[in-house]
Amino acid sequence: MVEWVGLARGLDGELLVDEVSVEEVSRDAGRYVRRTPRAVLRPGSVRDIQAMVKFCGRHGVPVAARGLANTTHGQGLVNGLLIDMRSLNTIHEIQDDRAVVDAGVDWLTLTNAAHERGLTPPALTGFLGLSLGGTLSLGGIPPAIQSGGQVDSVIELEVVTGTGELLKCSTTQDRELFEAVLAGLGQYGIITKATVGLGPAPDQVRGHELTYPDIRDFFKDFRSLLHRAEISEIYGDWWRPGEQGEVQHLNAFTFHSQAEPPDDAHLLRGLTPSATELSQSDFLPHVTRIDVAVEQLRELLDWDNLAKPWLTVWLPEATVEQYVTEVVGNLTPRDIGAGGFVLLYAHRRSRLTRPSLSLPRDDAEWVYLFTVMTAGQSSTEFANEMLARNRRLYDRARALGGTRYPIESVPFSQDDWADHYGARWPQLQELKRRVDPAGILTPGPGVFPKPTG
Ligand SMILES: Cc1cc2nc3c(=O)[nH]c(=O)nc-3n(C[C@H](O)[C@H](O)[C@H](O)COP(=O)(O)OP(=O)(O)OC[C@H]3O[C@@H](n4cnc5c(N)ncnc54)[C@H](O)[C@@H]3O)c2cc1C
Repeated sequence: MVEWVGLARGLDGELLVDEVSVEEVSRDAGRYVRRTPRAVLRPGSVRDIQAMVKFCGRHGVPVAARGLANTTHGQGLVNGLLIDMRSLNTIHEIQDDRAVVDAGVDWLTLTNAAHERGLTPPALTGFLGLSLGGTLSLGGIPPAIQSGGQVDSVIELEVVTGTGELLKCSTTQDRELFEAVLAGLGQYGIITKATVGLGPAPDQVRGHELTYPDIRDFFKDFRSLLHRAEISEIYGDWWRPGEQGEVQHLNAFTFHSQAEPPDDAHLLRGLTPSATELSQSDFLPHVTRIDVAVEQLRELLDWDNLAKPWLTVWLPEATVEQYVTEVVGNLTPRDIGAGGFVLLYAHRRSRLTRPSLSLPRDDAEWVYLFTVMTAGQSSTEFANEMLARNRRLYDRARALGGTRYPIESVPFSQDDWADHYGARWPQLQELKRRVDPAGILTPGPGVFPKPTG
């Protein structure tokens, strides 16, 4: 029996065990999993995290870090110690090519701060209300097609391992740990600080929204735009399939300077949408527009309290069209829910360099990220129905060479995780034994068994 009272003495931050504080962090964005921690650490320093992880290791108490809790299947929930990273939120330094940032800072704050200096992180997720520690533990995949993921622009990390040791790692220092931690689902350490790359912020963004009644035309034009490499961002989306007709949209964005606007006719040459809409925006409103839209969903639909059993899979070039056509054709309004979306991103495999992000194992240059972001009624029955659907859709994706992007909700066994990591699995098991010998870190995804000894 762990005695928490008294532990708070000597910490720079707070250790909370009252009912309100532990309940507040007992769920994530999915809303259907509840795991109530025994205590919540709001660290005042990295030393607090080290001290509490050491304590938990000695007593076999599971520990998880929490950023902004946007996972949907309880990945960051824990019935032991929850470390609320929001209290470590300093931007330490911004230089022309990099920023040194605490893991509890969110991407919206960093993007705004960088933009004041004419800079931007190269890979920005669609929604920026996500913490650095959270997306660096998962991947952070943007609609930009040339940048790779957020994990690809990390220069250095500071990590507290499961033994409470504070380590720096990068491609030149403890590379094995660095590559395991990036997109490593919090299994090998708690990221406390990251040095991430920055570059010049584009000035303007030209948007082309293209509508396609026929999914074959959608894929033909999606590929043309990818292969020409003239645009900066692209994604496909479907508005509540099954309800408003089977219409698909391509959203292409081209970053440019004031002085050199793009030639619309040239960019769209040979494409065959049934309708085209143009837009023009400054860069900052463009990259923050989904944050504004999510705020509206919160107000209109009480979006935070909808159940969100999402599915997100990586698909290879060879089967993406077959899979997406099958899945979208069979989705019903219930599958999407009142506040859901269906999206398709595309990426250059050569820019996705971090091995913990398990991608399709073919060697084609383009890989696709397909996501069904269900947001529907908050009931156990609905969540269970959607989890069974997700498992079915994951199995189909896997049969077609796909893999899972585990921000979301698929029932997964340890055999599934072994399969997910493929040839790296033995090395990851060995690293886990070394850096987290008590097996306390981030039990939510169920990647590793709890040690019996
Ligand atoms: C509206 C919306 C749009 C989104 N769009 C995108 C998108 O375009 N691309 C994309 O890739 N994702 C997208 N996501 C998913 C997002 O990347 C994940 O939900 C991620 O969880 C967000 O970060 P977070 O701060 O909420 O992390 P959390 O959910 O708090 O944490 C994620 C996981 O990492 C662990 N963790 C958190 N902090 C740390 C740390 N410091 N050290 C170690 N482990 C840690 C947690 O225990 C948990 O297991 C979107 C989510 C939403 C809600």
